[in-house]
Amino acid sequence: MSNVEFTTIGTTDIKVSQICLGTWAIGGWMWGGADDKNAVRTIHAALDQGVNFLDTAPVYGFGHSEEVVGQAIEEYGKRSEIVLATKVALEWSDEGKVVRNSSKERIEKELDDSLRRLRTDYIDLYQVHWPDPLVPFEETATALEKLLNAGKVRSIGVSNYDPQQMTEFKKYCPLHAVQSPYNLFERAIDTDVLPYAQENDLSILAYGAICRGLLSGAMSQEREFTGDDLRKHDPKFKLPRFRQYLDAVDALNTLAKENYDKDVLALAIRWVIDRGCVALWGARKPEQLAHLESAFGWSISTDDMQAIDDILKTSVTDPIGPEFMAPPSRS
Ligand code: NAP
Repeated sequence: MSNVEFTTIGTTDIKVSQICLGTWAIGGWMWGGADDKNAVRTIHAALDQGVNFLDTAPVYGFGHSEEVVGQAIEEYGKRSEIVLATKVALEWSDEGKVVRNSSKERIEKELDDSLRRLRTDYIDLYQVHWPDPLVPFEETATALEKLLNAGKVRSIGVSNYDPQQMTEFKKYCPLHAVQSPYNLFERAIDTDVLPYAQENDLSILAYGAICRGLLSGAMSQEREFTGDDLRKHDPKFKLPRFRQYLDAVDALNTLAKENYDKDVLALAIRWVIDRGCVALWGARKPEQLAHLESAFGWSISTDDMQAIDDILKTSVTDPIGPEFMAPPSRS
């Protein structure tokens, strides 16, 4: 019997697991290539263990992640029991240059492409991937409201938006969720998006829940990143800073073991859930989800929340955020 915990998306009755499987790496692009067989097995492993929530995006592998997710769902069946989240409003060229575009025309085109690749006729959560400074929020939000009213999407989210941008967006379209970077090491939303979402009944999908593998417990200074793996350019993975983060992981692992008989991976996921968010965890091999259940059925105490903060303060003296990932606007 699965011990997975559930919540709902915003004010809707769409029930989702507190872990959402992220499928960016499954697309291959910026993660050193794809392995489709393993990807499908990973998606099935998540579903088998009671996770019902999958997140993808058209830009992940330029359609490839959505295609693999569509194939995995078709093979698995039970579409109505799966909550499928995808995104809209990033555009790419043949050379792989990615820019923001949340115009009405782009949204209309992308929806049809996503439905085809995902082999479905509706999307459960449709999210604007990045705010576009060149398109009025009214245009983007109105285009999405039309899709909501037509039943093509069941709920609406934004990603990488700040509270001011969400307030503007909400004037024209219901908003149910926000997707932001959030993990033990990347906590910028603590002071703005997180309280805003709580006050406005928005679900928070915390992306990079294990900080691109850093909080998995399996990362080491010797790990080599190949091909176009974004961690080659991620400032957290460059020495001497990399060492500070790895030392923090060791200390967090000790705390998790001594106080909860858990490992740092479970602690990292639990921390995100205990902060009131859905943990958006990217995996591309089934074995990476082997101990998924150990994130459920317990909570981090207030004292240990403080102890975690103390560990981070002592170990990571030169912290840095995930800003390097932001795609440019069109001009
Ligand atoms: P993440 O979940 O923090 O880390 C994913 C990586 O960690 C995996 O690709 C894998 O890398 C490694 N990993 C996962 N489980 C592991 C385990 N048990 N043991 C060892 N290593 C493990 O980062 P993310 O994929 O960037 O973020 C999660 C999801 O959030 C994405 O897939 C995507 O859906 C979403 N996201 C959204 C945005 C946005 O702008 N909205 C941005 C980023 C991410 P290796 O296989 O290489 O070891």
